[in-house]
Amino acid sequence: MEHFDFILAGGGAAGLSLAYHMVQGGLGDRRMLIIDLDTKTRNDRTWCFWIDRPMLFDPIVARRWDHIWFHGPDRSHRFAMAPFEYRMIRGIDFYEYTRNALVRLENVTFLQARVSAVEDGSADGVEKARVRTEDGQEFSADWVFNSLFVPRDFTVDQSRYYFLKQHFAGWVIKTKTPVFDPDAATLFDLRIPQDGAFRFMYLLPISETESLVEYTLFSERLLPQEEYQQGIRDYLEGELGISEYEILEEESGIIPMTDQPFPVREGHRIMNIGTRGGRVKASTGFAFFRTNRDSERIVASLLQKGTPFHDQRPPRRYRTFDSMLLSVLHHHPDQGRDIFVKLFERNPLMRLFRFLDEEGSLAENVKLMSTVPWAPFISAWFRVKWRQRFGGAGVSGN
Ligand SMILES: Cc1cc2nc3c(=O)[nH]c(=O)nc-3n(C[C@H](O)[C@H](O)[C@H](O)COP(=O)(O)OP(=O)(O)OC[C@H]3O[C@@H](n4cnc5c(N)ncnc54)[C@H](O)[C@@H]3O)c2cc1C
Repeated sequence: MEHFDFILAGGGAAGLSLAYHMVQGGLGDRRMLIIDLDTKTRNDRTWCFWIDRPMLFDPIVARRWDHIWFHGPDRSHRFAMAPFEYRMIRGIDFYEYTRNALVRLENVTFLQARVSAVEDGSADGVEKARVRTEDGQEFSADWVFNSLFVPRDFTVDQSRYYFLKQHFAGWVIKTKTPVFDPDAATLFDLRIPQDGAFRFMYLLPISETESLVEYTLFSERLLPQEEYQQGIRDYLEGELGISEYEILEEESGIIPMTDQPFPVREGHRIMNIGTRGGRVKASTGFAFFRTNRDSERIVASLLQKGTPFHDQRPPRRYRTFDSMLLSVLHHHPDQGRDIFVKLFERNPLMRLFRFLDEEGSLAENVKLMSTVPWAPFISAWFRVKWRQRFGGAGVSGN
């Protein structure tokens, strides 16, 4: 059986990010196998993230914005982001860039196959971890990094944990006349009807006449396809006054938003990464920056301690904040808009970003939490604690 130092089961954002960080970070001499069932030759998603530092994937950043728009129902704000900026990386650029760098190395092997089983090795590493594919191949490794995740197979114990979905559909459109502000991404346009779910429009302008316009919801139930499209049409015509445009590209997605823990350790020799390893922020759906930060930490830990399991986890209170927001949005979706308006209007952007990046101090967190309506968050705190301890039975839905 062929043996590798590392097997990356899943070669999407997390798998390729980790492999690339390994090569760039001093582990380029190790034998690596990257298995994915997909060829990764489609631009299947676009990642955006705010960041205040250089990163390894800066050469493929397709677009940077130094301002963002936030539209509440009554007021609009155009915020300068410095020292942060909002960056965009296209999936296809990321897959090509990492693959081109990795495929050149003799010790890196790519395999297109469906992984059917991942088995643990022993703590001392004598017994190796194993990965089997559906077509009967079997490999062993010192460490397996597992990012296999199929959204439709994912389930949550909803008696104990909240489970919303961030679901969206968007069009890249081209207009005849200039309408977009190319220097500012719109993170939230909350001027649209909420109709019992937290909904917003998200805009990534590429020029004055071209932009991604995405209709996004945080809710339990998905919409019929036509409703997303109607939502975009209504917004373009009603809010932006655009009636003539060409649709250049379409994208859609579903990102799980849950406070159910995702175990990072799946055995002595198997580490979960990416969505499977809990790198999606439960209350926002952002994962790309967090996944890359995790890759850096895994490489540092392997080099310093010989194990990928680093202990650099954010303080536990951040999980409680996530659970509380999910609880409020689950029980009172109508309050989502007011909460986000207060978060953006009553906090410096830096404090908000540090909070969402789970890097703010306790004092900063307290300041931020004091700007949102207290009552729903206090009852959310009790509900979260109750559910996690006793399950959902007996908890009031209000
Ligand atoms: C459309 C979309 C847009 C997003 N936009 C953003 C954004 O703007 N910013 C942000 O921070 N986050 C965003 N996210 C969330 C998150 O960053 C992405 O989902 C990210 O791709 C997660 O990385 P991952 O490696 O965990 O999963 P993936 O990138 O999905 O990789 C998992 C890989 O596993 C493979 N696989 C699955 N099962 C098997 C199997 N049995 N055998 C072999 N291979 C298998 C899949 O083919 C896939 O390549 C977005 C998500 C989506 C869906």
